[in-house]
Amino acid sequence: MSGTLITRRRALQTGVAAAAVAGLPKFAFAGDPVIKLRVLETTDLHVNVMPYDYYRDAADDTVGLARTATLVKTARAEAKNSMLFDNGDLIQGSPLGDFVAYRRGMKNGDVHPMVAAMNTLNYDCGTLGNHEFNYGLEYLQNSLGTAKFPLVCANVIKADGSTLLKPWLILDREFVDEAGAKHKLKIGVIGFVPPQIVQWDKAHLDNKATTVDIVDAANKHVPDLKKAGADIVVALCHSGIAGGERKGGEENAALHLAKVEGIDVIFTGHQHFVFPGGKEFANIPGVDVEKGTLHGKPAVMAGFWGSHLGIVDLELTKASDTWKVATFRTEARPIYDRVDRKIVPKVESEAAVIAAVQGDHDGALKYVREAVGTTSVPIHSYFSLVADDASVKIVAEAQAWYVADLLKNTPYKDLPLLSAAAPFKAGGRGGPNYFTDIKPGPLAIKDMADIYIYPNTVRAVKVTGAQVREWLERSAGVFNQIDASKSGEQDLINQKFPAYNFDVIAGVQYKIDPTQASRYDDNGKVIAPDAHRIKDLTYNGKPVTDDQVFIVATNNYRAGGGGNFPGADGKTIVFEAPDLTRDAIMRFIIERKTVAPKADGSWSLAIPANVTATFTTGPNAAAYQPAGIKVEKLGDAPEGFIKYRVSN
Ligand code: MN
Ligand code: MG
Repeated sequence: MSGTLITRRRALQTGVAAAAVAGLPKFAFAGDPVIKLRVLETTDLHVNVMPYDYYRDAADDTVGLARTATLVKTARAEAKNSMLFDNGDLIQGSPLGDFVAYRRGMKNGDVHPMVAAMNTLNYDCGTLGNHEFNYGLEYLQNSLGTAKFPLVCANVIKADGSTLLKPWLILDREFVDEAGAKHKLKIGVIGFVPPQIVQWDKAHLDNKATTVDIVDAANKHVPDLKKAGADIVVALCHSGIAGGERKGGEENAALHLAKVEGIDVIFTGHQHFVFPGGKEFANIPGVDVEKGTLHGKPAVMAGFWGSHLGIVDLELTKASDTWKVATFRTEARPIYDRVDRKIVPKVESEAAVIAAVQGDHDGALKYVREAVGTTSVPIHSYFSLVADDASVKIVAEAQAWYVADLLKNTPYKDLPLLSAAAPFKAGGRGGPNYFTDIKPGPLAIKDMADIYIYPNTVRAVKVTGAQVREWLERSAGVFNQIDASKSGEQDLINQKFPAYNFDVIAGVQYKIDPTQASRYDDNGKVIAPDAHRIKDLTYNGKPVTDDQVFIVATNNYRAGGGGNFPGADGKTIVFEAPDLTRDAIMRFIIERKTVAPKADGSWSLAIPANVTATFTTGPNAAAYQPAGIKVEKLGDAPEGFIKYRVSN
């Protein structure tokens, strides 16, 4: 401390500092104290503690706070001063979380495994994510009530007008400056959640809580935080980065929040992206993806499920009794690398974190292997490219069920609801055993790996009848053109066309005529404007008209423009669900108890009688017959596949 004072006194004698005292521009002097403070972020952990994928029932080096914790240890050791924060989405989102919510429960005195793991790490503060509300307010309180660190949230308001949690906090900390002197600083922390929680968890929050716009809440509370003496303010913003004009009520408001005076650091999240970096943010004005800034302020987004640790290194200087951020750097540090498409872990697991959840992990393993429901029909994908199929229909049915529920209080509730889904495991490069194959009987959570392999989220788009027809035309590009006048075998499937782009749309009926040229090429460009493969497209028994309006349930990949589908270019989205598609499917199964996904031939191929159209599938297809079309085994095909003829 004394070294600093002497320098200060010397500085005062120069007269320059006197000018600063008189209110002229402030200067930081060479001898003024400099504190290097490292602030760390975890975000969107979603009850991912172990490096384990419960859906596949297999180890996974890309997830888990046990791994991130090792990064925390290293990051702390590298820094003189550090603080650790969490940005929310803690208690829901993995089968370990569902095990606690649906099976083990949160009785008095129980500690939630996510919290137990975090309690080993000495967090300074956390905030709420939208998923904290998924199981209701009582569960939220029971789960997070055992945290050994405080939580703040400024924009959830209870019925009595007060905030659900403290909106902000001042953390008194002592830091060591570069000269070895100690300083007491007040670190202000404020938290925010997407205001959309009142729609997403309406059933839990109606009459209990409302939300306020993130920027409005910041404008209300940050001045108080400064008045209370905060030297530096860290915003725990469980909200992502998006451009565009501010309209109020933004789900992803971090960029607008950066404009609020008094906030020094912004921890972002919710989108499950990585920042700095992240091509998603490359062209947004005000965002610097290289430096990791939002309107010039340091910001990070630490991926999801523990994939990254967010690091903001601040250099604080004190001039005229005010601490300021002089310089900074930002980083998102991963727990693994991808080398030649292989996952290479960069860190080992932290033993104390593993120990904190071992019992619940074992419980969750039992849970994912147990039946959560039953299917009364086989769910397989052996004929998913040539016939209507239960492995696609269960996804379509679950999406429609989920979307119908979430749209029931919106202007879209009376529009006809369709649902688009595609085969994911359909042989191809995956080999002759790369198919979904679930026998009638119990369905376990680990079967989800067989039903829905991508971590997509649910979306709904609003499209016209014409767009539905073109969407299906784009899908129908999976078929080679069949020559009706040719004898001999003709291969039906275009192997270059990814199966996941063969969308089936449930809710309408149609036929596909492969004797026509494909209207679209593999990239979604119209190449044969006069060709039409989709025939007899009907809804409720009546032809679909071009100007009819539909809602189509789909996933974030398709709705955002993945595959370049007509009607799905990112502009038609009317609903962005917070949940993974496979969580929606799982809840659908749990709620229905018994499912019977209907492969009823709602679409079928129209193949001329004289044509020998062939396709290949796995050897285990022999046990099944497809819906709405005939198949007949012709013999072996290369690489272990079996060749079939398909006919009407
Ligand atoms: Mn999340
Ligand atoms: Mg979230």
